[in-house]
Amino acid sequence: MLPAMPPPLFDPSRAPEGLDALFRPRSVAVVGTSAKARTIGREILSNLLECEFQGVVFPVNPHLEVCQSLRCWPTVDAIPDPVDLVVACVPAAAMPEVARQSARKGVRAMVIISAGFRETGPAGRALEDEVMAIARAASMRVVGPNCMGVINMDPAVRLNASFAAARPIEGNVAFVSQSGALGEAILSEAHDLGLGISYFVSAGNRADVSTNELLEHWEDDPRVGPILLYLESVGEARRFPEIARRVTRKKPVIVVKAGRTLAGARAARSHTGSLAGADVAIDTLLGQVGVLRVNSMEDLFAAASAFATQPLPAGSRVGIVTNSGGPGILATDACGSLGLHVPELTEETRAALAPRLPRQASLRNPVDMIASAGPEAFEAATAAVLRDANIDALLVLFITPVYIDSVAVAEAIVRACAGSPKPVLSCFMGKEGHAEAIRRLREAGIPVYQFPESPARALATMVRHRAWLERDPGSVPPLEVDAAAARAVVRAAQADGRTSLDFEEARRVAEAYGIPFARGVLASSLEEVVDAGADLGFPLVLKATAPGLGHKSDRGGVAVDLRTVDELATAWKRMKLAFAAEDGLAFVVQRMARGDREVILGMRKDEDFGPLLMFGLGGIHVEVLKDVAFRVHPITDADARDMVRSLRGHALLEGVRGKGPVPEGFIVEMLLRLDRLVQDLPDIVELDLNPVMLSERLTDCLAVDVRISLGNPST
Ligand code: ADP
Ligand code: MG
Repeated sequence: MLPAMPPPLFDPSRAPEGLDALFRPRSVAVVGTSAKARTIGREILSNLLECEFQGVVFPVNPHLEVCQSLRCWPTVDAIPDPVDLVVACVPAAAMPEVARQSARKGVRAMVIISAGFRETGPAGRALEDEVMAIARAASMRVVGPNCMGVINMDPAVRLNASFAAARPIEGNVAFVSQSGALGEAILSEAHDLGLGISYFVSAGNRADVSTNELLEHWEDDPRVGPILLYLESVGEARRFPEIARRVTRKKPVIVVKAGRTLAGARAARSHTGSLAGADVAIDTLLGQVGVLRVNSMEDLFAAASAFATQPLPAGSRVGIVTNSGGPGILATDACGSLGLHVPELTEETRAALAPRLPRQASLRNPVDMIASAGPEAFEAATAAVLRDANIDALLVLFITPVYIDSVAVAEAIVRACAGSPKPVLSCFMGKEGHAEAIRRLREAGIPVYQFPESPARALATMVRHRAWLERDPGSVPPLEVDAAAARAVVRAAQADGRTSLDFEEARRVAEAYGIPFARGVLASSLEEVVDAGADLGFPLVLKATAPGLGHKSDRGGVAVDLRTVDELATAWKRMKLAFAAEDGLAFVVQRMARGDREVILGMRKDEDFGPLLMFGLGGIHVEVLKDVAFRVHPITDADARDMVRSLRGHALLEGVRGKGPVPEGFIVEMLLRLDRLVQDLPDIVELDLNPVMLSERLTDCLAVDVRISLGNPST
């Protein structure tokens, strides 16, 4: 009798799905594994084995029978057991065939390490499209191509499917890196800092799995604390705000965004760019959704070490304990420039410290215990300052005098901090002989930095996160609008084949959404203009309009403060002559608005982020002042208020030199109305109310100019 075939190792019908196939596979095939030293194929296989992957590993290479003591298979579909995840490091040209075999085999996910795809040009792009079509048809999820792999340090999985040289430590930090090379650096730095990671994804070309999806996957994972992103571009930007806004309420998301690529590209293609480098728009977007942007990899790690181990500070008041003056001053300065406070300590704290510190010590904040301070002094000061009611967070600075035992000091600090609900960050300056002390502190979960500015910046990032969690997200009050009227105007222009509205049409759209305008009428002949003037009453403004006319005032097309029929007639004659060549020339006779400050309210549709709302100091100098704030649609009243208050020149709106404050509530409401308008009328791609004239008196707050452009009709 023939021996029965052994049953397959796993039930093929119970394969993990979606991102679980990626992060929690039961088996992994390394396609393109190699026996040669210093090859990616070899490194991936040995990383899987060395990390003690809790599933089964199958090397695949038609030229080998055995690889690192494992039986090697010629192709994926020759493997007798189910394969959940394929990690491929074959030449790009061989990738479609690997994908086809994987699809046939029932593989659920692929990590494509290989380069030579979209990043190399049209031929590579076609190859990537081919592979992705195969993957999609077989419902296989894909990370990469052109990446360095994925890691899941869950003890139940222990998947290191990367070719990173550094050995990851298990912890709670999740990383996504768009750059493979930087991924390597990230893992090695995390290792050196003793920073434990939960997940690591080198996203590469992001042909399938996006940052958004990873954020959602980790949103409720208790093994994930801070989420760190290195981004060059915000992929799937439309959904990013909504997802980020939600996830950042649950865990800190810290981003280093390399600005150049996106900023450069966008500044070149959109008008917004001339007003606020597109990178500024990204900055405000990230701030608006609670993502913590930092400026360097160093700051990313500084913040990560703090978030990974320390509780959030309740506020921004920092206590500093040091054994030398210089570092204390540096830390104090850094705190000051970052908006953190270094307040006086309470009487009680000072009284408690006095008997335990040398006479020469300073009992103010920073507490300078002088160089002779040993473990007892550190323990006493750390404990006392941590307890101080005026303090939300503590920085302990230590610079080694040779005669002090740094390990004993580290242990004293650990003892003093045990169980504290306030964050403690430490700085050990001077490297000699510190390794052991630093190890003790890190083991106890106290982050250690080399220079005092770094922990100060990390604390500032934590305070920002606290402020985000406490910020009232605001709401949108009910607004009465006449969407049908506005839509009718837009449709009529589209039926005419036009992509911009004339002044009258644009004004009707804005008015349908409750934006008040200075009263005005359209007129053509001198007689009509004079009649209109008589109806409206002086003082008046006369404006020339025509489809081809850009900024009217640039070319003498705006005459303000006309006080008599004569002045009005003279202005008309001058403009009639000056613009004789313009097709469709007409005139707007408008009441002179009494507002004394000019602002711009606008909207631009961004290709990546959708509608961006804009508010700034306006009028004809808006491009010179460049004092504008952006927010991504949709906004709340709290967002609108932030926009107004974030202007450099905000004081002008509050009133200077005898002028009173303009009504903030009016601006907020107008921004919300605009936000609603762009939502209801998606064909509008650009809108400017420039200027809206503001004054102390609400009734004098009026728009006097508007411009609206439509996209190409969608039908
Ligand atoms: P454009 O932007 O095409 O040059 P505007 O209609 O915005 O033309 O007018 C330019 C400037 O003229 C405004 O910034 C404002 O200072 C002034 N202005 C225009 N209309 C009025 C008005 N009705 N009341 C007071 N000032 C006005
Ligand atoms: Mg204008």
